[in-house]
Amino acid sequence: MGFFYFIVFIFGLMVGSFLNSIIYRLPSGESFLIQRSYCPYCKHKLSWKDLIPIFSFLILKGKCRYCQKKISWQYPLIELATGILFFLVLWNFFHRGKFRPHRLFVNFYLFPNYYFSFMI
Ligand SMILES: [Zn+2]
Repeated sequence: MGFFYFIVFIFGLMVGSFLNSIIYRLPSGESFLIQRSYCPYCKHKLSWKDLIPIFSFLILKGKCRYCQKKISWQYPLIELATGILFFLVLWNFFHRGKFRPHRLFVNFYLFPNYYFSFMI
């Protein structure tokens, strides 16, 4: 079971990495699906070893491999936050008995009369 949590956490890191590319590219109208990731300063295309969530940032000490300019803390923070969020959602789904937002969501849409009956 622990391995499953680890896989979901890693998947969350990858989703966070993808979110970073969307956050960076969406305002400028660039495609975040087709174009390869690049350094915002020197525009050098990044290789696979520069794109491992969190680890690449730590190994490169927060600097671009090619131009040595500082990489924003936003990238590893969003990756880590998304990984933790994925982990917590899974944890909540399997382990916690009292607070289950997914249950609220499902119940609300399946049995809306139950919730609205208190309002009348
Ligand atoms: Zn660079």
